Amino acid sequence: MQKHILVLGGSNEGFALAKTLQGHKNYTITSSLAGRTSLPKKPVGPYRIGGFGGSEGLKHYINTNKIDAIIDATHPFAQNITKNAAKAAGDTKCPLLHIWRPQWKRAAKDNWIEVPTMQAAAERLTKHHAPIFLTIGRLELAAFLPRTDLAFITRAIEPNQNEQWPKNFHFIYAKGPFDYNQELALIKKYNIKAIVTKNSGGPGAFAKIEVARTLNLPVIMINRPPKPKGNLASTPEEALNWLTNTF
Ligand code: NAP
Repeated sequence: MQKHILVLGGSNEGFALAKTLQGHKNYTITSSLAGRTSLPKKPVGPYRIGGFGGSEGLKHYINTNKIDAIIDATHPFAQNITKNAAKAAGDTKCPLLHIWRPQWKRAAKDNWIEVPTMQAAAERLTKHHAPIFLTIGRLELAAFLPRTDLAFITRAIEPNQNEQWPKNFHFIYAKGPFDYNQELALIKKYNIKAIVTKNSGGPGAFAKIEVARTLNLPVIMINRPPKPKGNLASTPEEALNWLTNTF
């Protein structure tokens, strides 16, 4: 009998797993997306969109949909869904694996200022860094509101009509991945002097780090939250091995 796997996705790893497991003789898979954007990229195969309603909601989903295992392939900074998955999986005794992709490593030529939080990043910026490229998504932008003295170029996937931002925030809208030449052109166009980013890891968002390295621009790098406890894999391939060993 096929095992029903819930993949908490929205990431490259989640999409890759959905593609690999589609039509697999031993597994059926349902992908879950947070639903942050109006036109999300769709995974191969069945999927659902939107929050579960905390760990209790996720428990209900696991029981109702007879989920046999969960693969948490969410972004390394998406801590709430990861904690909820751990709680719900523990309570329902559902096997759980987190995909924890390797973080970016500082190279000799990198000019990184590593900070623990978004707020620390905002406090660390000086007028010499402006205009500053904020590539952190839109959820935590408010940390930079107190810096009315600095100009920000903020990249988001799409406009949000419900939000109003001060004039020192200039929005550009685009969806990654971005290659080196795209990032270089944008950084030159806006005369960017520093970049703020999370240490997301993976190839999709790395080009801006390479451009910063070439141009010797400072990168305010927000360090990773703590690694989740329990079963961990670095790649979709390792996650598949875990699945094969589990069932
Ligand atoms: P989060 O803070 O961990 O999640 C907040 C809530 O969103 C969760 O409690 C859950 O709602 C819902 N949720 C998140 N991922 C879900 C999924 N795959 N399926 C169903 N529900 C999901 O994560 P976030 O708010 O999405 O983002 C936090 C950080 O991660 C930000 O720094 C963001 O930039 C980064 N990030 C996230 C994604 C992504 O696809 N989620 C992608 C890139 C970057 P309920 O409690 O109601 O279940």
